Amino acid sequence: MSHDAAHAADLDRRYLWHPFTQMRDWLAGEPLVIVSAEGNHLIDAQGRRYLDGVSSLWCNVHGHRHPILDAAVRAQLDRVAHSTMLGLTHPGAAELAARLVPLAPDGLTRVFYSDAGATAVEIALKIAFQACQLRGETTRTRFASLVEAYHGDTIGAIAVGYSETFHRFYRPLLFDVLRLTPPHVFRWRDGMTEDAACAAAIDEARAKLHAHGHELAALIVEPLVQGAAGMWMHPPEYLAALARLAREVGTLLICDEVATGFGRTGTFFACEQAGIAPDLLCVGKGITGGYLPLAATFASEALFATFLAPYEDFVAFFHGHTYTGNPLACAAGLASLDVFEQEKTMTHVQGLARVLGEKLAREIAPLAHVGDVRRCGLMTGIELVRDRATRAPYSPAAKIGHRVCDAVRKHGVILRPLGSVIVLMPPLSLRMDELDLLVSATAQAIREVTQA
Ligand code: PMP
Repeated sequence: MSHDAAHAADLDRRYLWHPFTQMRDWLAGEPLVIVSAEGNHLIDAQGRRYLDGVSSLWCNVHGHRHPILDAAVRAQLDRVAHSTMLGLTHPGAAELAARLVPLAPDGLTRVFYSDAGATAVEIALKIAFQACQLRGETTRTRFASLVEAYHGDTIGAIAVGYSETFHRFYRPLLFDVLRLTPPHVFRWRDGMTEDAACAAAIDEARAKLHAHGHELAALIVEPLVQGAAGMWMHPPEYLAALARLAREVGTLLICDEVATGFGRTGTFFACEQAGIAPDLLCVGKGITGGYLPLAATFASEALFATFLAPYEDFVAFFHGHTYTGNPLACAAGLASLDVFEQEKTMTHVQGLARVLGEKLAREIAPLAHVGDVRRCGLMTGIELVRDRATRAPYSPAAKIGHRVCDAVRKHGVILRPLGSVIVLMPPLSLRMDELDLLVSATAQAIREVTQA
């Protein structure tokens, strides 16, 4: 290890506390120190190159050090790095909103910026809740969400996105949420066909929403893919049914496209595939091409209008973060939209997704310990099982997902698992030869670890 990397590793072990990490294991290991990047690759201190197989936690879109994004951020640095959105505005924030609104589902005409997926979700929940209060629908004080949903790590977000493993310690702090079981066949609706699972999930949603709809401020869903649950997919018909049921019972619909937005599912937003338009839409991650922290909550004009009143009524939306709508981040966001147009990114993604599907079927699905391969666009989950016939899971202590991701590094690919699910979520700029490497290295690592 070069002197700098050894020094960084030393300081890391002495001073840092990493997210979602058992630090006892971390401190016993040797950290991989990333010092630079190029295109779809990350480069470590020894100059080794790794394909960024999960887009730096699902956010990189056009690759690293893209000349158009780099130039846009540099140019913005020569103007101003940061000024506040509280009481001031700036061209980047306004232009980015004006360009995003036509790309968003119909009727979402207002953009409220923040700086993380979790904050975009908190904002959506609070707008929905306050709007109900302002409209005099004061009994609408609950939310509904899907079982094993993930909406971020702040308290409101973990209330709607509860996971027993991660959040059990905080349970007394969390508000009560109505849970709907999604049509996830592999674990939840064992033995059913996809159609039967979808019909059963819609029946359940109808019964619960009709019983409790009058109590609900909003229903929040990750459209098409419940990412952090382990890449659980649901068909567009399910999403369309949820949207219809939400309207029927008069509750607002929030779509959390923090993970699915900006092309990952094969369309610019996942909502498009179900032909739905929510009342609120949360985006983050890919909004800046994965360059800088920025998030946004889109709202309908009707919701926006609910908050218009004389100043002294104090019904404004009292929410804001210091770095909300940061100008450098907005510059990256605008440049990212330029690249989508110039490089015809969505056309490229459709070709990639088709080939990815073929390769997964050929090289991954037949492996002895692969229980399920799920994919929507470029979002892929490969669920490893101890026994294919019974779907018996590996014990958590086997750390099977982490071991596969450690093994795949030796083949020049960086992945990060979700439990026993190996996630592939490459940048949309992935080249076909890089796709070959991604799938063949993953297959090789799965073989090495599960056959050992
Ligand atoms: N919502 C969804 C659907 C997500 O996948 C994530 C992050 N993986 C978040 C919200 C939270 O985003 P952030 O980590 O930027 O707070």
